[in-house]
Amino acid sequence: MGIVVVGSLNMDLVVRVARHPVPGETLLGSDYESYFGGKGANQAVAAQRMGGKVRMIGRVGNDGFGERIKTHLKAQGINVNATICINAPTGVAFISVDKAGQNVIIVSPGANSRLKPENLSPIEFEHTAVVMLQLEVPLDTVRRAARIGRESGARVILNAAPALPLSPADLALFDILVVNESEAQAYSGLAVDSPESGIEAARKLRQHCPTVIVTLGAQGAVWASAEGEGYQSAFEVRAVDTTAAGDAFMGALAVSLSEGRSLERAIRLGAAAGALAVTRPGAQTSLPTRLEVEAFLS
Ligand code: ATP
Repeated sequence: MGIVVVGSLNMDLVVRVARHPVPGETLLGSDYESYFGGKGANQAVAAQRMGGKVRMIGRVGNDGFGERIKTHLKAQGINVNATICINAPTGVAFISVDKAGQNVIIVSPGANSRLKPENLSPIEFEHTAVVMLQLEVPLDTVRRAARIGRESGARVILNAAPALPLSPADLALFDILVVNESEAQAYSGLAVDSPESGIEAARKLRQHCPTVIVTLGAQGAVWASAEGEGYQSAFEVRAVDTTAAGDAFMGALAVSLSEGRSLERAIRLGAAAGALAVTRPGAQTSLPTRLEVEAFLS
C-alpha cells in the first residue's frame, strides 16, 4: 500500500549576498543556484527514500522548471502521473542568503495555487495507506484530499505548515496533525517552547484532531493520541543545517505508519530521520535513506 502526497512543488533559487538590500536598492549577488523544493515534493522524496511507494499529486508550470521537477521526481522512483504541467509559472522560492547565513525568502506559489479540489480524483487514492498533506496548496484542495483519503480508507496526516487560520472543523478532517513549535503556538494559542508546553498544546488540539504530534527541533517531539501521550527525545547530532528536518520527519512517519507500525515507533523513526537531515546541508539533498536511518538506529 502506498503513500499519496498532495502538495507543492517549487524551484528554490538561491543567491548569496554580502548583505540584504534595503527597499529601492540594487545589489550584486553570486551566481544563483537552483534546488528542488516545496514542502509537498520534499516530503514525497523523504518518504520515497525511506522505502515508501509514493505518488505525488500537484501542479507545475510550462516554464522549463516544471519538466525539470517532474523528471527529477520520476528519476527517484516517485509516480508523477498526477503531477501535471499547466499553462502557468512553476512555484518558485526566491532566497537570498547573507554572510551571516540569514535568509530572506519570497515564495511565488505559481502553479501550486492552481491545484483545485476538482482536479483530485478518488482513483488516484486507491490502494493508499497514508495521505500526506501540507498547506502550500489551496485549503479547499487540502480539505477535499483529506475527505477522499478517508473515504478510501487511508490514514490522513496534515503537516499544518505554514500556519494558516484553520477552523476546528478543518482540524477534524485529519487523523494526525503534525506541527512544529511555532505552528503549535499559532493553532493552540499557547506558548510552546518545551516538551511540557508542547504536550499542553497537543492536548488542547486533540479536542479537534484525534492524534497530535508537536515537533520541537533539538528538543525532540511529543504526542497525544487516544492511546496515550509520549515524548521522543532528539537524537544527539552535530547540526549543520536544520532545513528539511521537518520534511524528513514527515516522510519517515508516513512510511512507518503505512507499514503498520505503532505511532511511537513511527515517531522514533521520524526523529532519527530528522536528526540525520540536520547533519547535512540543503533540503532534498539532506533527506536520509532507509538504510542510513536503520544504520543510525542500530
Ligand atoms: P523545518 O521547517 O526546518 O523542516 P520543522 O520546524 O518542521 O523543520 P523540527 O521540529 O525542527 O521541524 O524537526 C523535526 C524533528 O527533527 C524533530 O522533532 C527532531 O526529532 C528532529 N530534529 C530537528 N532538529 C534537530 C537537531 N538539531 N538535533 C536532533 N534532531 C533534530
